[in-house]
Amino acid sequence: MATKYIFFTGGVVSSVGKGVTAAALGMLLKERGLAVGVQKLDPYINVDPGTMSPYQHGEVFVLDDGAETDLDLGHYERFIDIPLTRVSNFTTGQVYAEVISKERRGDYLGGTIQVIPHITNEIKRRIGLVAKTTGAEIVLVEVGGTVGDIESQPFMEALRQMKNEVGRENVFFVHVTWLPYIGATGELKTKPTQHSVAALRSIGISPNMIIARSDHPIESELCDKIALFCDVDKEAVVPMQTAPVLYEVPMLLEKFGIPEFIIDKLKLKATRTPDWKAWQKMVAEVSKPKPTVNIALVGKYVELHDAYMSVREALRHAALSVGVEAEISWVHSTDLEKNKGWDVLQNADGIIVPGGFGSRGIEGKIMAARYAREQKVPYLGLCLGMQVMCIEFARNVLDYEDANSSEFDRSTETPVIDLMIEQRAITDMGGTMRLGLYPCILTPGTKAAEAYGVEQVDERHRHRFEFNNAFKSEFEKAGMVFSGMSPDGKLVEIAEIADHPYMVGSQFHPEFLSRPMRPHPLFAGLVKAAKERAGNGSRSPKDG
Ligand code: GLN
Repeated sequence: MATKYIFFTGGVVSSVGKGVTAAALGMLLKERGLAVGVQKLDPYINVDPGTMSPYQHGEVFVLDDGAETDLDLGHYERFIDIPLTRVSNFTTGQVYAEVISKERRGDYLGGTIQVIPHITNEIKRRIGLVAKTTGAEIVLVEVGGTVGDIESQPFMEALRQMKNEVGRENVFFVHVTWLPYIGATGELKTKPTQHSVAALRSIGISPNMIIARSDHPIESELCDKIALFCDVDKEAVVPMQTAPVLYEVPMLLEKFGIPEFIIDKLKLKATRTPDWKAWQKMVAEVSKPKPTVNIALVGKYVELHDAYMSVREALRHAALSVGVEAEISWVHSTDLEKNKGWDVLQNADGIIVPGGFGSRGIEGKIMAARYAREQKVPYLGLCLGMQVMCIEFARNVLDYEDANSSEFDRSTETPVIDLMIEQRAITDMGGTMRLGLYPCILTPGTKAAEAYGVEQVDERHRHRFEFNNAFKSEFEKAGMVFSGMSPDGKLVEIAEIADHPYMVGSQFHPEFLSRPMRPHPLFAGLVKAAKERAGNGSRSPKDG
């Protein structure tokens, strides 16, 4: 049978939840027994988001195969729960790089290379790769940005062509728009949606479904109006008010009968009736009032919470499994350096220092690690957070005043975190890191081993620097435990402080493998320890 495609486009404004919608729909279809594939097309010219500032792009989500991808892939994996590969995300930069290198090789035999057909062909080839490599019978493809963006035009044109090439009966267009709310009259407006649908039609694409997003309740008359003006079936206009709980979104789509509508239109066959009991229970749990634990997240992109999307979600999953609500206090690490924000740490039941690159704010993170160790506040270090935990230990326990990572101080005589030998010669920016899934052997009897409850795990990495083994035995003698190592015993994967309720740092990023109903053990460990601290009154009394 021909592969079926659902294309998601955005209208009016971006950031209205196109990715979550695609992820939620993918989950609903997968649970009906369909083989689902998913893909995000990013119209920017960077080859991947790996070298982009998190301020610009939010988090970089890393896959098993080491692909550095858009954060929407995190939503896809958390909802659909299938491991994705690099074919699930590509950018304009990758498309052009491929076409230009073919041109240089002479593959086009002297032809003039143009957006149509050469660029659009390459886009279509890459869309086709999902079904080819995964055997998916239905592929959900999300186009980044909004209709009308100059950058996304070749993508839209490629989708238009695909509609004719794979057959209209095999494609379904979902247009996700935003309804602005006019405070003075208290009403939602459909005009921008009408305009964006008109823009879509002008390039030859007619949406089969409109998902109308708003923070306010959307009356059914408004949906009927959208259906009339935009020439879409009434049942195919979906009012999607912002859900208080992200994981409720699939249940809303389910309530409106969206999966059946699409399955019917695409002439697919569901082979299973989904059972949502466990998922619904999870969503209900989230909404129930629970005791809170305060977790301070000490980072340097804290103004933009999207920069820590997976960390935040992993914390939510873990908190749910422990029966508490994790309240995140965002602490700017440079503030700590300026003697600000310390009250937040004092009120914290747990501290997370997430990943990061470059020296800005690093001293503040080291201070946070020192505070956690000395005050015995539960601490979880993610990649850089593990590295600062080691630097702090070297400075304040082993008395190496100048201890540092050679990333931040090239001339330090105590590089407790250093470049891996084989990467020293590499100066190119992108693609020179240890990326993707690597095995880690857990040391029996440690907190990490206890949290995981298994002997070996595979975790996702994204880093250049490593713990420097020259210092290993000295660290061990002073009370640092290396609780996870690479199978050859050469690379430190997890470090923890022996005499501490829970101070654990991982060289990998556990947040990428946390799922709503399968919280990550290291996060669960942190939240358990934080709950204990909150419960036994170790928190300073003034905060109650
Ligand atoms: N900058 C550090 C390194 O490259 C940590 C990276 C990270 O936190 N992802 O090793």
